[in-house]
Amino acid sequence: MSDKKSILLIHTGGTIGMMKDPLTGSLVPFDFSSVVESIPELSKFGHNIDSVQFDPPIDSSDIHPGFWTRIAEIIEKNYSNYHGFVILHGTDTMAYSASALSFMLENLSKPVIFTGSQLPIGTLRTDARENLITSIEIAASYENGMPIVPEVCIYFESKLYRGNRTTKVNAEHFNAFQSANYPYLAKAGVDLVYNREFIRYPKNIEPLLVHHKFSDQLTILKLFPGINRRYMDTILGIENLRAVILETYGSGNAPSEDWFIKRIKKAVDKGIILLDVTQCSRGSVELGRYETSRTLLEAGVISGYDITTEAATTKLMILLAQKLETQEIKMLLNKSLKGEISPH
Ligand code: ASP
Repeated sequence: MSDKKSILLIHTGGTIGMMKDPLTGSLVPFDFSSVVESIPELSKFGHNIDSVQFDPPIDSSDIHPGFWTRIAEIIEKNYSNYHGFVILHGTDTMAYSASALSFMLENLSKPVIFTGSQLPIGTLRTDARENLITSIEIAASYENGMPIVPEVCIYFESKLYRGNRTTKVNAEHFNAFQSANYPYLAKAGVDLVYNREFIRYPKNIEPLLVHHKFSDQLTILKLFPGINRRYMDTILGIENLRAVILETYGSGNAPSEDWFIKRIKKAVDKGIILLDVTQCSRGSVELGRYETSRTLLEAGVISGYDITTEAATTKLMILLAQKLETQEIKMLLNKSLKGEISPH
């Protein structure tokens, strides 16, 4: 089999494809298609690299589920024509988009690699070139006719991460992402070294199926000492609310005071799903380990284990949009669907 692969580059926007507006001094997106041609290193691969671009490209803070559908549709339409997909995306919400795509693309068996940069591609010290070139290399890496990484990933600053395990942690340095609860899938040094035992491989190759629907009947409630009862009532009383990601302390702990637990219990009794996700970046929720989480467990809160808020949000958006009973959704939340949690 020839080593020449076909890769589709999907440029959605972000710093990687921005330049300074001479009038305002702010970074604004510019036409990216010519930039791809102006990176001579890309032609050295010998791969066939096509690109499509969002018109206009967007700053990823403007992303919403409609854009995830657009990305997924581009992949779906071109799935059989390409060996891999590289998505250029702003870093701000990249972890949400990579998580969303991981749940949207059912039966994925090809690489989908998100990347971007902290400095625009045209600047002297840019991190964009390495991120882009290595992402293409990863998307085109096959062995015995099979892709080495058939997952939705983020490649950034020499590491490849499972997309739904990542969080943006740095707005300043090149190493913008972290996957605190799961090992990286590859590291680019002199060689590109894959951590194969941590990569997910499909059991069978089945046709790609795409979940296009998202629910917005959810919210995130971050706890803090001194949280106001009336605010809690307002949030838990939102009309048509179906799920709350409860961002708790440590291993999933929350106040054990009566007023608090009563409100949680009332929400659960109304049929609202309460998913316990820790505010800590590393470690897992362990309901019942402390008295302050046993009360949550008894009130009907369910464990998010070691899920990131980004993965919890997008997983819930997709599950709530399907015609599933609340009990079924709770069961799926406690299950690793795409390697997003390690239930214990
Ligand atoms: N604001 C930019 C974005 O997320 C930041 C970046 O690309 O790194 O689109």
